[in-house]
Amino acid sequence: MKIAIAGAGAMGSRFGVKLQAAGNDVTLIDNWTDHVAAINANGLIVTRDDGKDQVYPMTALAPNDVTTTFDLVILFTKTMQMDQMLTDLHDVLANHPAVLTLANGIGNVETIEKHVPRSQIVVGTTVWSSGLVGPGHIKVTGTGSISLQAVAPASFSNLGDIISTLNAAGLKASPADDVMAAIWKKAGLNSVLNTYCTLLDCNIGEFGALPNWRELNDAVLDEFQAVAAAAKITFSASAVTTLIAAQFSPETNGGHYPSMHQDMANHRPTEIDFLNGYVARLGKQLGVPAPHNAILAQLIHSQEALVTAK
Ligand code: NAD
Repeated sequence: MKIAIAGAGAMGSRFGVKLQAAGNDVTLIDNWTDHVAAINANGLIVTRDDGKDQVYPMTALAPNDVTTTFDLVILFTKTMQMDQMLTDLHDVLANHPAVLTLANGIGNVETIEKHVPRSQIVVGTTVWSSGLVGPGHIKVTGTGSISLQAVAPASFSNLGDIISTLNAAGLKASPADDVMAAIWKKAGLNSVLNTYCTLLDCNIGEFGALPNWRELNDAVLDEFQAVAAAAKITFSASAVTTLIAAQFSPETNGGHYPSMHQDMANHRPTEIDFLNGYVARLGKQLGVPAPHNAILAQLIHSQEALVTAK
């Protein structure tokens, strides 16, 4: 399959390497000039679990330099970069490739459908992970899986081909029954762990050891539950709380600092407007107040402003 990875940061690069190794024709597309130049000059360096580096020759392009068409575009920017990437790829999208995103956060479908017919959009969640070491260099740990669904299943005929392609690359994809429920579940988890660990400058285990973690958790998830009900999305605050509690031990994710913490440490914008911020905005629209989520989003934006000013 001819595949574009639009947003070839940590995750996009990991997926790109695996898909190319499985025989697909993969192009990495990215706006970070140094990253694109490093990949084209030296190949993509992947540091594996065992600490060893492997170099993969890959083709990388800036969005404006893409002239060819693709069967599948995998969008792996951060949520707040998605609209710009899709704008930059206007000509590529004119050929109506399928567009898949596994990016975190809620609201990605609304962003994508401004640029792509609903009938071409596939969304999902993934528990694969990856980190950027520097331009042209990622570090990968562990394995993962993908759960995905077409936004308009009745008019999307080749989900099976996409799943087969992902599985041939070892990406462990399966169809979701209710992808919006899966997206909200992951967003609920991220809106607790990412947001509080960033504000409190702690890892997941340290958050779980706080005597009031449950109160902090419920302040976010009770509002998620109410807004999800008004939006007719299946959501269980208690199921998300159980999932969160399962992350606290050192054997799971206790020692891990969530990606928002890393974005803040690197003075990069966070995905807060598509987590707590999204639920606060949607709640307002639907007449279901979500004041805790609104203030948490404001606090993260305040912290972004403070670290940027330093
Ligand atoms: P990323 O920050 O590594 O890359 C996203 C984009 O930002 C890329 O275009 C990248 O080139 C650019 N970028 C990164 N650092 C830059 C820098 N210093 N200067 C200029 N541009 C830079 O994002 P990611 O971790 O791959 O995440 C993509 C999506 O996947 C997000 O929605 C994220 O929440 C989600 N996700 C990430 C992981 C993970 O383990 N990283 C796991 C699951 C889901």
